[in-house]
Amino acid sequence: MRIGSHVQMKAPEYIEGSVKEMLSYNANAMMLYTGAPQNTLRKAVNELHVEQAKQLLAEHGLSMNDVVVHAPYIINLGNVEKEETFRLGVDFLKKEIERVEEIGAGILVLHPGSFTKATPQAGIRRIIDGLNEVLSDGQTVRIALETMAGKGSEVGRTLEELKEIIDGVKKNELLGICLDTCHLHDSGYDVSNFDALLDDVDRIIGLDRVLAMHINDSKNVRGARKDRHENIGYGEIGFETLCDIVHNPRTEHIIKILETPYVNEKPPYKQEIENLRNRTFTDVK
Ligand code: FE
Ligand code: FE
Ligand code: ZN
Repeated sequence: MRIGSHVQMKAPEYIEGSVKEMLSYNANAMMLYTGAPQNTLRKAVNELHVEQAKQLLAEHGLSMNDVVVHAPYIINLGNVEKEETFRLGVDFLKKEIERVEEIGAGILVLHPGSFTKATPQAGIRRIIDGLNEVLSDGQTVRIALETMAGKGSEVGRTLEELKEIIDGVKKNELLGICLDTCHLHDSGYDVSNFDALLDDVDRIIGLDRVLAMHINDSKNVRGARKDRHENIGYGEIGFETLCDIVHNPRTEHIIKILETPYVNEKPPYKQEIENLRNRTFTDVK
């Protein structure tokens, strides 16, 4: 199983420190932000200890292929009203792709965007425009559009919306999706019958497009459209279902990332990963 969590990326060791954090959870995959998720301030890649990180990964039989990057939330390619916001998103995403290429990771997770006061259709068209502008020949990083909970005016609440975006983008061989269990549940999908859901994913988008998964429990009932992550086994999805999902043989090759909340300001990931791997539940709070 390829499983890990989101990890920090901070001074002084940056990505090398991220790898150390991952290893401390006995994980074999991780997700990081190239800077604060809420803003666009970024350090030059040559200051991020990339070579040291690669060496440490190699010592553990891992590589940058086991590392996923998450784009910052402030990118909104779906903004129809404000040209400025859309532009900022396009420009930043271009730079982010270059940074991820330089780091050597293969997958960049992206929230498709929000249509704000326009319509979902208008938002989808805008997102397609943005991605067409951003994706370039010779690019190796693939973008995984995340399934969203549907809070506010989020695009990507259904598999069909993601499919529409993929179909509209010219270089769509560079596009895939990221299945977030909390978001799927909050948007109304029944994740307790995950095989049936994977059948839908396969029929609508294609299982080969699933590049990553986010494994989170949810604080809210199915269809609530809230997006509040809960620790594994403490929410409305439940431990058994989440174990079934991570042990499903059809998802075996896919990187799984926990984005559950800290407990008493401490990361719960080592125990949560162990619980999921062994299908035995030990309390984390
Ligand atoms: Fe996300
Ligand atoms: Fe997520
Ligand atoms: Zn979320």
